[in-house]
Amino acid sequence: MIIAIDGPAGSGKSTIADLLAERFGYSKLDTGAMYRTVAYVSSARGVDLDDEESVVDVARALDIAFDDAGGAPRVLADGADVTREIRTPATDRIVSKVSAYPGVRRALLACQRAFAVGRDVVAEGRDIGTVVFPDAGLKVFLTADPAVRARRRVLQRHPGAAADDPALSAEIESTLADLVRRDRLDASRAEAPLRAADDAVRIDSTSHTVDEIVDMIASLAEDRR
Ligand code: C5P
Repeated sequence: MIIAIDGPAGSGKSTIADLLAERFGYSKLDTGAMYRTVAYVSSARGVDLDDEESVVDVARALDIAFDDAGGAPRVLADGADVTREIRTPATDRIVSKVSAYPGVRRALLACQRAFAVGRDVVAEGRDIGTVVFPDAGLKVFLTADPAVRARRRVLQRHPGAAADDPALSAEIESTLADLVRRDRLDASRAEAPLRAADDAVRIDSTSHTVDEIVDMIASLAEDRR
């Protein structure tokens, strides 16, 4: 079965997809990591990101792999570990430009579908339920209040910090600005925009814990298996 989890930036998709995949013994497909890898590698190679054709060439030729063997999962681009580089604020700033290019989406779509052949998958992104796996057994659209999403994201970067630590307020502000900007770009692009599939279950995680959300989705999945 395929469980599709879509939603805006910082809505908790990745954490929740990890926990669901672990609970059911499914593979996890992080499609955001793939778009991030194309953006990071294009920029690192000095490709002009306004030059759509060149960015599409990078996406077509790039071998993106997920390595789960031993320890924390790694993202590999043509064999090189880019796990950290694709999560920096610099990559946050460029990824939505690159992901709006139809040729980039086409190249990654083929890899995403190939990943799921013959296995059960929890896939997360923006267009999983609408475009990548329109026949997914369960589709969830996960949202949360933008300010809450920004705070959670910053606290993930500073494990152990107090939620109201004033030293984090500037970072929360800039993260909020980035999330809102990215959501706007992702939702307004012509190709595969961020939106809930008509048959998706909408879940607002603003006032729920991660465990509560995982339990909710797991019980929906159990019903449909
Ligand atoms: O989920 P994450 O924040 O890592 O995604 C990074 C970016 O990748 C998004 O802001 C969006 O531009 C793009 N993306 C996409 N389609 C997906 C997954 C991610 O366009 N299925």
